[in-house]
Amino acid sequence: MSTPVIELRQLVRKYGHTDAVDGLDLTVRAGSCYGFFGRNGAGKTTTIKCLLNLLRPTAGTVRVFGFDPERDEVAVKSRLAYVPDAVAFHPWMTVDAVLAYVASFRKHWNLKTQSELLDRFRLDPTKSVKALSKGQRTQLGLITAICPEPELLVLDEPTSGLDPIVRREFIQTVIGAYQEADPERRTIFVSTHLIAEFEGLIDEFTIIDAGREVLHLEADAARDRYRHIRARFPGEPPAFAHPGLLRSRRDGRELDLIANGQSDAVIEQLRALQPEALTTEALTLEEIFMATLQ
Ligand code: ATP
Repeated sequence: MSTPVIELRQLVRKYGHTDAVDGLDLTVRAGSCYGFFGRNGAGKTTTIKCLLNLLRPTAGTVRVFGFDPERDEVAVKSRLAYVPDAVAFHPWMTVDAVLAYVASFRKHWNLKTQSELLDRFRLDPTKSVKALSKGQRTQLGLITAICPEPELLVLDEPTSGLDPIVRREFIQTVIGAYQEADPERRTIFVSTHLIAEFEGLIDEFTIIDAGREVLHLEADAARDRYRHIRARFPGEPPAFAHPGLLRSRRDGRELDLIANGQSDAVIEQLRALQPEALTTEALTLEEIFMATLQ
């Protein structure tokens, strides 16, 4: 097995008495797009900052490309790019100047990608940063992250402030294209609340709550495991219970169920109740997120 791109073992990070991250294990393999999901305050940004040596862990180990980000900061940071949730640049610089400045720290910089992204986002390179909107600053942050073509892209709410058209375009075209150009080597670690918009890209994910893992699965395995089952009855639905249910609701004449790994058994038991109609479909990752944290 090749060295994981990110490996966390029993990571703990406290702020005073708050356990922001509380014993987190996580492994991200090269070439994957890894989703890192959780409610507000779940500990996502704190975890990401530990990866980047912006925060020191209270306990546990962090490895990025096999290195300790605290001891081998340059080895780690030269191979990744990070887009924080609030992007900040020197306000007096123009867009062009920011790009030249950031490029000066990088061994490699793709100027063709730079000009394509400026066009795509309709960003004026002569504009100064202080005249950019929040969304435009995010766009600039994304360009500075993509142009060095890093092995690892760490994205913390990367689409915050972007309008829906740019957002969709950014995720599908920009992030997708970045990874497809070298799929074995380019890895994405993304924390987002817009799970639906990343659905097609995510290979594997972890959901955290209160700094702890709640669920970790490959996306395809998750879609196999969690099924939405609806059964319609001629009158009021009968009472229904099964240990494999994550959620069970009555909705008019329907039973609205979410099965966790035992959908065949649930369906068999339901059929015995002779519903008029029975449908089943995979949950989206967003629905899994909601059902898991309910
Ligand atoms: P969001 O989705 O809202 O960005 P998050 O999952 O990124 O949330 P964190 O920012 O990592 O969450 O915060 C985790 C916990 O740590 C929260 O309870 C938060 O209040 C606390 N916390 C974060 N930063 C600090 C700080 N500088 N000082 C004290 N507590 C903090």
